Amino acid sequence: MSNAPSSAADSTASTPSASEWSPDQFKVEPCEGKVRFHDLDLPDVVMRAVADLGFEYCSPIQAKSLVHTLDGRDLVGKAQTGTGKTAAFLISIITDLIDYPYLGRRRPGKPRALVVAPTRELVMQIANDAAELVKHSGLKVQTVVGGIDYDKQQRQLREQVVDILVATPGRLLDFNRKNDVDLSEVEILVLDEADRMLSMGFIPDVRAIIRSTPHKRDRQTLLFSATFSDEILHLANMWTLDAIQVEIEPERLTADTVEQIVYMVSEKDKFNLLYNVVRQQELERVMVFANRRDQTRRLTERLTKSGISAALLSGEVGQKQRIKTLEAFRSGAIKVLVATDVAGRGIHVEGVSHVINYNLPEDPEDYVHRIGRTGRAGAEGISFSFACETDAFMLPDIEALIGNRLQCLHPDEELLKRPA
Ligand code: AMP
Repeated sequence: MSNAPSSAADSTASTPSASEWSPDQFKVEPCEGKVRFHDLDLPDVVMRAVADLGFEYCSPIQAKSLVHTLDGRDLVGKAQTGTGKTAAFLISIITDLIDYPYLGRRRPGKPRALVVAPTRELVMQIANDAAELVKHSGLKVQTVVGGIDYDKQQRQLREQVVDILVATPGRLLDFNRKNDVDLSEVEILVLDEADRMLSMGFIPDVRAIIRSTPHKRDRQTLLFSATFSDEILHLANMWTLDAIQVEIEPERLTADTVEQIVYMVSEKDKFNLLYNVVRQQELERVMVFANRRDQTRRLTERLTKSGISAALLSGEVGQKQRIKTLEAFRSGAIKVLVATDVAGRGIHVEGVSHVINYNLPEDPEDYVHRIGRTGRAGAEGISFSFACETDAFMLPDIEALIGNRLQCLHPDEELLKRPA
């Protein structure tokens, strides 16, 4: 099982009680067209966790779904990873569990909320996010995933009370058949990445799991999927009742507000080009993407040494540091944020004027995600991609995906000069 849920349990013991904190300490100005978490009447312990995470405004999927899910409605949501859908359903679950406390004695292995997701990685990620969001509430999160820790997971289910269980289908079904888990009082069921569960052949397992939960009249069901095929909509119809349907458009649709320029440059000139682009154009809020963690680390060091305020955001940066870094970037104290694709995915920072691809990504989808960090909400943005001898071959695939030819330029000599 992941360490995150147990560390969440530890942190409830050491953090001050919610009464020492009030939402007034978390100031976010009202902003037209945006929903603040303050506007949703969330319990203080949830608001405090949201404040700790540095979330100011709801992302579109959160704004569109929370009003309904907090009202107890079923929901079928079309949203990809990176949209904030995890926090959308977790905040709803946690609020519900707090607002309607369980009356009576809790038993181990009997979750009040169940989240089913297709892969171990996704389950761990959801459980980590859950651990952050429950940290002031005392709610307990457990994970059940295939491939590892069978005995440990079984022991936890047998011995510990669990509020939110996050699981992959196969292992959960196994424990269910052995009566190690009792799903008969699940109040909220979330099916995440339903389209992947379908393509991975998990639907029979999911069906069996759902049969062990209360009837759809007696539970709340939220289903998320990146696509709405007929088959997914059919499943959604079977498993939900009178559901609200919410769709978040894929990010690539925002790309037309981003001017996309490719600089043809040799590998050895890339750093000078980066430095000069940032310096000469006096860029204030830039995200630089590179493919590997070691590259991002080195780039951050070189930029800092050259006098440009830069910070690193990659998988090796812990959550606390990540929040601090994002704050500094938002406030302008840091001008350049250097990120890997994974770390950069879900970042929602207003006013990123430029995205620089230090290398072209190996997956064209990542190109779309990267440039989606700028030109948000109709604002103008510019992206520079540095294509050298080893990555220019990626260009045709990227152009095919975005359905556009990219402007390729050779940078002026001025832009290749060594920093003084
Ligand atoms: P997800 O789509 O659930 O994988 O979330 C992507 C990322 O967005 C995660 O790293 C979250 O921490 C972050 N995130 C979720 N909601 C918000 C928000 N309202 N404001 C800023 N970041 C958010």
